[in-house]
Amino acid sequence: MPARSEREVVVRLAGRELRVRRHEPLSRYTTFRIGGPADYLVRAGDRPALELALEWAEREGLPVTVIGGGSNLLVRDGGIRGLVVVFRAAGEALDGSLELVPDDGATVVTLLATAPLSWAGHRTSELGLAGLEWAAGLPGVVGGAVVNNAGAHGGEIGSVLVDVELYDLVERRVVRWTRADVAPRYRMTELKAQPRPRRYVVLSARLRLVPGDAASLLRTATENARWRREHQPTGPCAGSVFTNPPGTYAGYLIEQAGLKGLQIGRMKVSERHANFFVNLGGATAAEALALLDAVQRRVSEHFGILLQPEIEVIGEP
Ligand SMILES: Cc1cc2nc3c(=O)[nH]c(=O)nc-3n(C[C@H](O)[C@H](O)[C@H](O)COP(=O)(O)OP(=O)(O)OC[C@H]3O[C@@H](n4cnc5c(N)ncnc54)[C@H](O)[C@@H]3O)c2cc1C
Repeated sequence: MPARSEREVVVRLAGRELRVRRHEPLSRYTTFRIGGPADYLVRAGDRPALELALEWAEREGLPVTVIGGGSNLLVRDGGIRGLVVVFRAAGEALDGSLELVPDDGATVVTLLATAPLSWAGHRTSELGLAGLEWAAGLPGVVGGAVVNNAGAHGGEIGSVLVDVELYDLVERRVVRWTRADVAPRYRMTELKAQPRPRRYVVLSARLRLVPGDAASLLRTATENARWRREHQPTGPCAGSVFTNPPGTYAGYLIEQAGLKGLQIGRMKVSERHANFFVNLGGATAAEALALLDAVQRRVSEHFGILLQPEIEVIGEP
C-alpha cells in the first residue's frame, strides 16, 4: 500500500485506484458531528467506487458498514471496526440518479441509493410526479431512507416503493427485494432489522409515483422544506431521537416532562423541538447516550411510557 498521506493510502486494484482513509473520525460523516474512528473509510459516490471498496474489503477480510448521509446515526466513541463506506453522491450532477418508465398511467422512478432524498422530493415534484413531495428538506440519501422507511407530513418512502436492488455481501451478487420483502412499517424495515455487519447494500430503489400538477407539488415541497427550517433545530443534530408511541408524540411527552433544554455535557434537548438532541460543539456519544437514557427514564417516570430510539446507535463504546 503506497502511502499518500498519514491518513490516506491509495490502493491499486483491478487497474483502478481506491483512496482509503485510516482511523478516520466518523464525526465528519454524521449530522450529529459525533462518532469515533473507522479503522478504514472509503467515500464512494457511485456504484463502481462501491464495488471496488467491497472487493478490497473482501480481499482484506474486513467487515463492512455502509452509511449514507449519517443523519439517523449515533456512532459510539470507540468507532467502527473494519471498513466504513460512505455511499452518497459527490457533486451536483444528479440527473443521472433518476430514471423514469411509464407504467399504466403512473411512472416507475428508479432512484440511485446515493441520491439526496431532498433532491429526489424536489425533482419528482418538478416533473409532475406525486408521492415524494414530503421528502423535500429531509437530510440523507435514498439508500438510508429506504433502510429507515423515512417519512414525514403523512408520507413515507415505503408506501410508494416497488422494489429495491441490493448487493448481497455474502453471495456477492445483486438481488432484488420486493416491497413485501422490505416490509416497510413505521421507521422500520427488514433491512434495518438485519444484525450488523449487515448483508445487503441498497444500490437503487424503484418507486411508483402518480401524475400530479407540477406547480402545486412544487409548492407543497417548498412549503415542507420551509416548515422544517422553522420547526427543527439548525445546529448539529440527527433525526427524531425517539419514535412516536401509539397515539401520542415523543416530542410532546419530553416537553411535558419538563425536559426541553436538558443538558448533559455538550449535548442538549433542543429548545425548538424536544425530540431532537443538539450537539453544542464537541459532544461525545457517551454524553448523547446519557441524555437519551435520562430522557427515557424521566418520561417513563412521568407517563409510564418507555420511549424507543428511532436513531440507530452503532459502533464500539
Ligand atoms: C434535522 C433532521 C430532520 C429529520 N427529519 C426526519 C423526518 O421527518 N422523517 C424521517 O423519517 N427521518 C428524518 N430524519 C432522519 C433521516 O434524515 C432519515 O431517516 C434519512 O432518510 C436517513 O438517511 P441517511 O442517508 O442519512 O441514512 P444514514 O443515517 O446514513 O443511515 C441510516 C441506516 O441506513 C443504512 N444505510 C445507509 N445507506 C445504505 C445503503 N446504501 N445500503 C444499506 N444500508 C444503508 C445505515 O447503515 C443505517 O443503518 C431527520 C434527520 C435530521 C438531521
